[in-house]
Amino acid sequence: MSSARATIILIVAGFVSLSAGSRSQATQDDGRLRQLLDRYAAGDFAGSVADAVGPGGAVAAAGLLSQLRNEAPKWISAQSDPAKAGLRAASFSLEAAGRLLDVQARVNEHDDAALAASLATVVAADNLVEWGCALMRPRSPAASDAERVWWLASVELLQHHGGGDSLLFGWGRLYSGAPHMPHAQAAIPNSPELALASAMAPVDGGERPADAMFYVIDGREEFSAADMREMALNEGRRRALVDRPIADPESYRLHQRATYAQGLQTAAKRLRLIEGDPRVSAHARVLLGAVALCFTGGRDAARQYFTAAPAAADADADVRFLAAFLTGRAFERDQRMADAAAAYRRALSIVPRSSSATMALAVAEWMTGGQAHAAHLIEDARQTELVTDPWEGFQTHAFDRWPVLLDQLHGALRR
Ligand SMILES: [Zn+2]
Repeated sequence: MSSARATIILIVAGFVSLSAGSRSQATQDDGRLRQLLDRYAAGDFAGSVADAVGPGGAVAAAGLLSQLRNEAPKWISAQSDPAKAGLRAASFSLEAAGRLLDVQARVNEHDDAALAASLATVVAADNLVEWGCALMRPRSPAASDAERVWWLASVELLQHHGGGDSLLFGWGRLYSGAPHMPHAQAAIPNSPELALASAMAPVDGGERPADAMFYVIDGREEFSAADMREMALNEGRRRALVDRPIADPESYRLHQRATYAQGLQTAAKRLRLIEGDPRVSAHARVLLGAVALCFTGGRDAARQYFTAAPAAADADADVRFLAAFLTGRAFERDQRMADAAAAYRRALSIVPRSSSATMALAVAEWMTGGQAHAAHLIEDARQTELVTDPWEGFQTHAFDRWPVLLDQLHGALRR
């Protein structure tokens, strides 16, 4: 054998063994993904998703996405009911995105390297949602109940789990680039839930002026001018990474402030269109009240909305708590501290040991001569842990219905 030929044989043999190696790696990955999908289909939702995502990160997400692209179609067509299997695969992908975003939400945003990594994770999670979306789109617009829940859950996830942004309070990620909302609107047209989810979009990117309610009333929300500038710079950096560069963050900030009030007006108009729909009425009223509170002279209207909200069919405990708590905030603005205290007590009867309502009640009691009881409330709060309440979530997420929708989705998938 000539040495040249031996070399070629060696190279070919090496090549074959290399490709055999990568094929067995691929087979292993395929087997793993199919096992995960089997487990998900059998109802092991949390376990299979946790194993798919591991400790999180963009690399894990990219790996999962490529496995889904390559192998899920085969898994789907091998199932006895491919339509249902497609919904299951899309739901698996959606939940994996949710878990990734949950992990990245705990990243310290003041650490630039961690922030960049978390942005990569957000993009990867978006891609997972869009992979499921591409499976779901051809099935619409005749969406089944289960498919409807998938669309609502996907919007909820992108809107509220993308790093703590929000519509009412700042910068909603869904509307600053992600293309998913129009997909959902096309899939389930005339959905009041989607109308509610997108009602605050005109406020997106707006910055609260100094007389807006949360900015002034809630002590924790009182940012200094330096804080505001820092926030604008952070937003500038964020958009430079994921969206577009902002040459002058300061003028950007001023522009956002100028459009904020206009955005609120438009949002209120949208909310009034769905206020009468029993599926979203209570939620729409709480948002309408919150918007009214942002305007000087809007307190009476706000209190009327908060009074009407709990009577609506969709009023859950979160909404009832928010209506009571925000009534307290409205009374505070009118210096009616005794009325505010009564509203906070009502909020506490809905979510006992709520941290926001406990603190607000202590302040209101202190200001109306009830120093001893206020001190008792604070001391009691120091001794035992208070409960995280809907107001804390509302400040950053408006309404967080992801857990509820996930429960509904699981229920539908089990059937
Ligand atoms: Zn989409």
